[in-house]
Amino acid sequence: MKITGKKKKKIMVGDVAIGADSEISIQSMTNTLTHNIDATVKQIVKLTKAGAEIVRVAVPTRKDTSALKEIIKQVSVPIVADVHFHFDRAMEAIEAGADKLRLNPGNLRDRRKLKRVISAARSCNIPIRIGINAGSIRTANELKRKISREQLLKLIFKELDEYVSFFEKNRFENLVLSAKSPSVTETIDIYRELNRRYEYPLHLGLTHAGTISTGAIRSASAMSILLAEGIGDTIRVSLSGDPVEEVYVGREILSALGLRKFSVPELICCPTCGRCEVDLPKLAARIEARLRKVHKPIKVAIMGCIVNGPGEAADADIALIAGKECGFIYIDGKRVERIKPQQFLDTLMRYIRNYQKKNDR
Ligand code: SF4
Repeated sequence: MKITGKKKKKIMVGDVAIGADSEISIQSMTNTLTHNIDATVKQIVKLTKAGAEIVRVAVPTRKDTSALKEIIKQVSVPIVADVHFHFDRAMEAIEAGADKLRLNPGNLRDRRKLKRVISAARSCNIPIRIGINAGSIRTANELKRKISREQLLKLIFKELDEYVSFFEKNRFENLVLSAKSPSVTETIDIYRELNRRYEYPLHLGLTHAGTISTGAIRSASAMSILLAEGIGDTIRVSLSGDPVEEVYVGREILSALGLRKFSVPELICCPTCGRCEVDLPKLAARIEARLRKVHKPIKVAIMGCIVNGPGEAADADIALIAGKECGFIYIDGKRVERIKPQQFLDTLMRYIRNYQKKNDR
């Protein structure tokens, strides 16, 4: 399903389209030291396998931009160089073959230098994301704490309008925009206004969303509302932790909203109750880890008791009803095997592999 919001310009990041009728893409960002080429490439490959379609890397030093060329050579996803405010890094990243730049022009004060970055990006036909954060607008921090949300939004848009017109005056419209905040409600207000004002595609996300659990909830709360209104062309769930989790959360948000269908399993687990006699959360975590290596749209259910489990798992392709002494495998709602607890994991995975094979034929 494509929820239609305001139509945006189409921007290409390498071979991935953002905006217009393109699918909403999933982005993530590495947290390795970029100049550690092996570690960075390894993480990008992991992110790509998890489903990241665009990956951003920070390039704070010359060592990082020097590593960029080799990194780009070794990976298959488009790479965004986060230069934030550094002129030299921006020029070096373009030279190294970055597929997109992310910069905060507010921090690149010298407009002559900004013009040179724009001109270099235009020559290489690479887009630039103007990414400002509520925390980085040019106002004293004490004042920011005192002003109302309406006033803060006015400041954000005053600043963004200035940047966008500067780029446009310099004949550059290959833009993606973002204006992030750590607050869910502020993010919703900001992005609704971004959507109303600009035809450039929007990179959706919260800044500093939080740890894996709180960050996932905050990101899903803000993004779901906006995406359901058709706002947002590419997403990044910012989490403190392994960035691969960002990709899984992003994917879950898009599939839960019916915006994208991924060739990955869907895992359903019962919440457990007084009837459950096994450590279901532990079992589910182990199964989830195994399922991350499966690339088929298969619905798997793990239930904690025979009383309600089979009924609640009725629409799953494969279900494991786990009990203390034994468990049962169900395929398409029919019981097919009784198994011992020590067989739960391997037997379930065997059925999943066979189910895949059968459906591939
Ligand atoms: S499936 Fe059984 S154990 Fe799980 S929540 Fe339902 S009744 Fe409780």
